[in-house]
Amino acid sequence: MQTENGKLVYYGFEAATVWRETRLAAKPGAAAWLPYFCAMRKTWLCFIWLLPQVCLADTAYVRKMTDTLSTPVFSGRGYVGNGMGLAAQFIAQQMQTLGMDVQMQPFTYPVNRFANGMELSINGRLLTPGVHYLVNPGSQSCRASGALTGIDSLLYVNKKQAVAIRMMPSKLTWSVATAQNNFTEFWVKDTTIGKPERFDALVDAEYVPDFSAQNVQGFLRGTAQTDSLLVFTAHYDHLGMMGANTMFAGANDNASGVALMLSLAKHYAANPPRFNMLFLAFGGEEAGLIGSKYYVEHPLVSLKKIRFLINLDLVGNGEEGITVVNATEHKAAFLHLQKLNQQHGWFTAVNGRGKAANSDHYWFSQSGVPAFFIYTLGARKSYHDVDDVAATLRWPEAHDLQQMLLAFANSLMLDCCW
Ligand SMILES: [Zn+2]
Repeated sequence: MQTENGKLVYYGFEAATVWRETRLAAKPGAAAWLPYFCAMRKTWLCFIWLLPQVCLADTAYVRKMTDTLSTPVFSGRGYVGNGMGLAAQFIAQQMQTLGMDVQMQPFTYPVNRFANGMELSINGRLLTPGVHYLVNPGSQSCRASGALTGIDSLLYVNKKQAVAIRMMPSKLTWSVATAQNNFTEFWVKDTTIGKPERFDALVDAEYVPDFSAQNVQGFLRGTAQTDSLLVFTAHYDHLGMMGANTMFAGANDNASGVALMLSLAKHYAANPPRFNMLFLAFGGEEAGLIGSKYYVEHPLVSLKKIRFLINLDLVGNGEEGITVVNATEHKAAFLHLQKLNQQHGWFTAVNGRGKAANSDHYWFSQSGVPAFFIYTLGARKSYHDVDDVAATLRWPEAHDLQQMLLAFANSLMLDCCW
């Protein structure tokens, strides 16, 4: 790296052989190193530039950000207590502190939310929300009790009260609805109770036709190739609250992704990158990739300038490896990622798969932007439930993913590897 007219100039790896040969030479005195240093100038400069890129990954910061975003202050970063709004402000503040240009992009969408009452008793037994049951996110309000009629072995209804009890043999998984039904449905763990015969229920649902959300964009100016953009994205919203007392913290989904993205921003703010960089925190992902769709339809930068985009969602594990969506679309880049992993031994597996509309990279891919979506694989299967809390995440793997992303991004910016 050299400074020329205030711009950084980077060197490639062509002098690597010289470095290897020099290492094998007899130890010279201090003065005798000078000609070697001069001969290997490019290697040294490249090495010095790369060192912080791969060595200063900041796991403590990732952990702190994930823990913070998962606390009750942010009410599960959803639709109650201004949780999503507070999270957006917090992320913007972090970006500003790092010295980035920050822009908020507001948008609205309809949502059905549950701010207050949430009670269900079956056969006279009061059940615990989030643990024993979930409410179908599209449910309407109800304050009702009565007998239940079995439709089949899993579905029990009271048609007059428009209440349904659905027994769930598999794990309870909540979501967000953008419309409200004309009935109330509960999803009940089928090991919780015997055959449902009677119910007592209270649900306060509110349909909001124009919930206000926002995307948060942090921009970091590059030092050399500023017509190229490298983009990291992560959604910061989650499911929020199911009633006043049941929070879905969303530590893995996706406080972890935001935290990792912010740690990369922190790194590049201290070690200016060659390309311009964007860090995009999206709202409305859990309601149907709404924030990223809005961004692609109303981009704050030219999408044509994006050399690569990496979306991080569910990255708090990794002891069983990682999966890369769009691997089949960008084979050379994926092979390079696998090669880096082989060299460093970060993950037991780097799996590739094809296109999928399963996170915020999707709309960018559809618009022709080269993009990967990376998620981690682990033993804990908490997903869209009350068990997705910060204490369950695996930090050594978060550290490995930081290193992998820094190495991948630096290869891309050095234009050296695929
Ligand atoms: Zn997610």
